[in-house]
Amino acid sequence: MNFEAQPIINLDRCTKCGLCVSGCPENALEMTDQGPKLRQPSICTYCTDCEALCPTGAIRTPLTVTWGSNYLS
Ligand code: SF4
Ligand code: SF4
Repeated sequence: MNFEAQPIINLDRCTKCGLCVSGCPENALEMTDQGPKLRQPSICTYCTDCEALCPTGAIRTPLTVTWGSNYLS
């Protein structure tokens, strides 16, 4: 399966508190001068922990459901 969902980071809302970086179980995030970014997107398991930890809603892991074209056939 090709599963490449990644957290969406809104740097305008980020206070650079670092909670998402320190709380990521995969160590997939790193802090930069601008704020957190995915250090290595391929190791992110999309566990959603970073979203739960973020106090400002700056990092989000929205779920997208895509139905197959024959779903209602
Ligand atoms: S979704 Fe999980 S693995 Fe991916 S960056 Fe956030 S805390 Fe880390
Ligand atoms: S937890 Fe939220 S506010 Fe804190 S560094 Fe991460 S994205 Fe920014």
